[in-house]
Amino acid sequence: MSPDLHTALRTLLPEAHILTTPEAMRPYLAEQRDRYHGTAQAVLRPSTTEEMAAVVRVLAERGIPMVPQGGNTGLCGGAVPTAPAVVLSTERLNRIRALDPLNNTLTAEAGCILAQVQDAAAAQDRLFPLSLAAEGSCRIGGTLSTNAGGLNVLHYGNARDLVLGLEVVLPDGQIWHGLRGLRKDNTGYDLKHLFIGAEGTLGIVTAAVLKLFPRPRSMETALVALPSVAAGLEVLNRVRTASGDNTTACELMGAPSITMAQRYGIDVDWPLAAIPPWSILLEVSSAGDFDLRTPLETTLAQALSDGLVLDAVVARSEAQRTALWRLRESIPAAQKGAGGSIKHDVSVPVSRIPVFLDRATAAVERAIPGVRVVAFGHVGDGNIHFNLSQPEAMDKSAFLALWEETNRLVHDIVQELDGSISAEHGIGCLKIDELARTKDPVELAMMRAIKTALDPRNLMNPGKILSPQ
Ligand code: FAD
Repeated sequence: MSPDLHTALRTLLPEAHILTTPEAMRPYLAEQRDRYHGTAQAVLRPSTTEEMAAVVRVLAERGIPMVPQGGNTGLCGGAVPTAPAVVLSTERLNRIRALDPLNNTLTAEAGCILAQVQDAAAAQDRLFPLSLAAEGSCRIGGTLSTNAGGLNVLHYGNARDLVLGLEVVLPDGQIWHGLRGLRKDNTGYDLKHLFIGAEGTLGIVTAAVLKLFPRPRSMETALVALPSVAAGLEVLNRVRTASGDNTTACELMGAPSITMAQRYGIDVDWPLAAIPPWSILLEVSSAGDFDLRTPLETTLAQALSDGLVLDAVVARSEAQRTALWRLRESIPAAQKGAGGSIKHDVSVPVSRIPVFLDRATAAVERAIPGVRVVAFGHVGDGNIHFNLSQPEAMDKSAFLALWEETNRLVHDIVQELDGSISAEHGIGCLKIDELARTKDPVELAMMRAIKTALDPRNLMNPGKILSPQ
């Protein structure tokens, strides 16, 4: 870093929060999957919005690129910098500013850990429903910037649906004070949605007003064995109706996912007689003290006699419920035990999931004989993790060399079915070429126009989402 820049930054931040040595910067330069390694001239850690804005002004005046970073749990390289960029970490911007139980809102700074927000809501007998496996380390700013989904999207929506207002530092250092807690506000363009899912390319989210809900008092969880995915979708619809639209999660698991979880997962049991071709983990919950068990069991019994269900179990204790979720949650880690994997985080309209799975499975099995399809995910949202494990006898690096061509094969099918090539994790640098290849040119042109309007010098997280022209 130039002495001039260092001097200017020292007037804004304590020296301890201007990191420049390789050792101090190391945790901020690589993502946890170790796929991307970056370089930066500094990592800066402001602790207030005003400090963040002042730092951005100093960097913008000198034309220095900036990379916002939260918990650095992203899996697409979005928070990884390339020198001469500077990383702007939000980790010290971590206060809960307000909780309004009557308005059902909580105002959190960007660096709050997601679990910290959930706990603050719970302390006031409220629910912040965004929940995902990285919740102990991902931060609110990053979670909104990737429009994270997670386990409860079916009922509560994505991160985007849980935000009422934002505070943002723009690429020139201005602060947009948009922290409104309004459910109704028809005063023109809804600008917050530009920044949600923008992966830090338009500005730095410094705080957000988040929606809260009553906490669930009744909850039932069932594991349902199915003859087919289509049968699972019919069962899901029946349970949604029978539960009074109180179905909060529906996770699909193909037989190979379960076999892998059993073989390589920790403490994973299969509670039914046999492993079926497909199964779903269904959860119904309500803030009222209602009997959800009877409608759930009655619906599953009827589906059994209609041939839609092969077998089912409803958890009888919290320990059983936890064990059912452990089965689902251990799949991604268990897959590592089976060698190399090529992953697809895609979505299609829910009704097209069966045809997607049939066509994509046939295509990859034709292209890579012996490949093992490990499909699982948030089926109620149309989101499938269509992961492929290498054939047992194949060399791992030879399999991984097929990553891009296999992605194209699967993404072409997703596109034919009007789906999305990134349902959850975003674009970062991982999917830039695929986005450029698959996105409607008119949509891409609108995205570029927005980027140019807000960040004409391309200083905010350059090289992410949009490819250079
Ligand atoms: P980072 O990784 O630090 O950053 C992510 C992106 O946001 C980068 O582009 C960065 O520049 C930008 N950014 C960060 N903070 C800000 C800010 N304040 N302002 C502007 N831009 C910013 N996602 C799902 O949708 N559903 C899941 O079920 C799910 N499960 C996951 C499970 C695991 C184990 C892991 C590791 C990830 C999972 N994810 C899931 C992805 C997860 O949602 C994201 O990794 C997380 O939300 C990103 O938050 P973060 O604070 O770590 O952001």
